[in-house]
Amino acid sequence: MSKIVLKNATVMTDSGFKQTQVLIDGPYIAKIDPNINDSAQVEIDCSGKLVLPGLIDAHVHFRQPGMEHKATIKTESAAAALGGVTSFMDMPNTSPATTTIEALHNKQALASNDSYVNYGFYLGASEHNLEEVKRVDPHEIAGIKIYMGSTTGNLLLDDDNALFKMFEAAPTLVATHCEDNGIINANTALAKEMYGDKIPFEMHHIIRNRDCCVKSSLLAIEAAKATNKRLHIMHLSSQEEVELLSQYAQGDIHNRQISAEVCIPHLFFNDTDYPRLKGFLKCNPAVKFERDRRALIQGLRKGIITTIGTDHAPHELAVKQSENYLNVASGLPSVQFSLNVIFELFKRKELSLEEGIKAATINVAERFGIEKRGLIKEGYFADIAIIDPRERYTVHQDDIASLCKWSPMLNQSFSCKVTHTIASGNLVVADSKLCSDSGNAMALRFNP
Ligand SMILES: [Zn+2]
Repeated sequence: MSKIVLKNATVMTDSGFKQTQVLIDGPYIAKIDPNINDSAQVEIDCSGKLVLPGLIDAHVHFRQPGMEHKATIKTESAAAALGGVTSFMDMPNTSPATTTIEALHNKQALASNDSYVNYGFYLGASEHNLEEVKRVDPHEIAGIKIYMGSTTGNLLLDDDNALFKMFEAAPTLVATHCEDNGIINANTALAKEMYGDKIPFEMHHIIRNRDCCVKSSLLAIEAAKATNKRLHIMHLSSQEEVELLSQYAQGDIHNRQISAEVCIPHLFFNDTDYPRLKGFLKCNPAVKFERDRRALIQGLRKGIITTIGTDHAPHELAVKQSENYLNVASGLPSVQFSLNVIFELFKRKELSLEEGIKAATINVAERFGIEKRGLIKEGYFADIAIIDPRERYTVHQDDIASLCKWSPMLNQSFSCKVTHTIASGNLVVADSKLCSDSGNAMALRFNP
C-alpha cells in the first residue's frame, strides 16, 4: 500500500472546511497540514475540488449469496466506490438469509475477496434463530435487522411475542423495517377490487400508506422501551413518523434509545415521479407526498433523523419494466449516486453540505459504534471521497456500474462529479474510474 498526498485540498474536517494537505500512510490518515514534505508515491492535485469523508451506507442489499442474477458484492461495491461510498452495511435478506453465524461468516469471506470498499453485515431475525442472535459476537455485526411487516419471506417477524423476545435477545442495536402487514394486505385487496390487474403505480403509496408505517414504528418503539434496547428505525418515509420521533431526539447519537434513518429515494423523489418512473420507483416503504419529503429533510436538519442511507436494492430490468404493478418487485439501486443527491439537496438550499455529509458519515459511525471512521482526522482510517463541484454531471447508461444496468437516476443531471475514492488508504477510484482490484477493503468493526 503506497503513501498518498492530497495537495491543494479543501477538506471537510470536524471543525469545518480547511485549505490544507492530507498525508495518507497505509490505511490511516497520518497528517493534515498545509506543509507536508513527504515523497509519497501518489500525489493527487485537489485544486478546485472538495475532499469529503467517504460515505458509510448502513443500508444496502447487495443480493449475494443466492441472487447473483440481480447483483453481486463485486458489482455493487464497485458502484459504491464510484459514488464515493467507502463502507457499506448489507442487509440479511439474501439466500440463504443471514440468520446464522455460519451464513454471516460466509458473507464476510465473500466480501473480503470481492469488495472494493469496507463492509459490514446485519444478522437477520427470524422466528427460529433466537439462539444464534444470543451467540453472535456483537463486534462483528452492524445490528440485528427485524422486518416488521414486509414481503421478505422467512425473515418476517409478525408476531408481537416473538418480536419482544428478539429485542430482548439482541446484543446490539436493533434496526427495523416498519410497515404493518395487516394494513398493506387490506389496502392491496381494495386496490385489486378497484383496478383488477391494472393497479396504477401511483397507488403504491396509497396501499403502503403512512398509517402502516406509523403503526409499525409505534410498536418498534414500544418494544425498544420495554426491553431497554437501542432502536434505529430504517428508511423513514412519512411526516407523521418524523413528528413521532421528535420527542426522542436528545442526547448523544450513540446512546440515544430511539433514532431513525432516511434513504435517498425518500429524500429525492415524491409522488409526482410515479407516472414517469412507474415500477422503477416502487420501493418499500413507498415514496410519498412532497410534504413528507420536506418533513424528512427538516427531520434531518433538526437532528430528529440521524443518518442517511440508500436502501440500494437492485432487481433485474425485466422485473421492473412490467406494467403490472403487482408483478413489479420493490427496490431500486441508488448507492452510486447518493453523494450526488446529497450535494444536489445542498445546491437547492434544502440542506447545508455539512448536515448532509455528516448524516451519511460520522453520524452513522457514531450510531453503530464504528471505530475511527466517518471523519477526515489524523489517526482515523483514510476513507475519502473527492468531488468536483465545477463539473455538471449527467448520468449516462454506460456509467451505471450496478449489475442490473438501470437506475432511477438515468439522465439525471447533478451539480458535481465524484472523481476519486479512497477506502482504508486504497485508491479505488481515480478520475471517475475504478483503478484497483477488489479484495483490499476491510471489515468494519462495531462497538455496540
Ligand atoms: Zn432495505
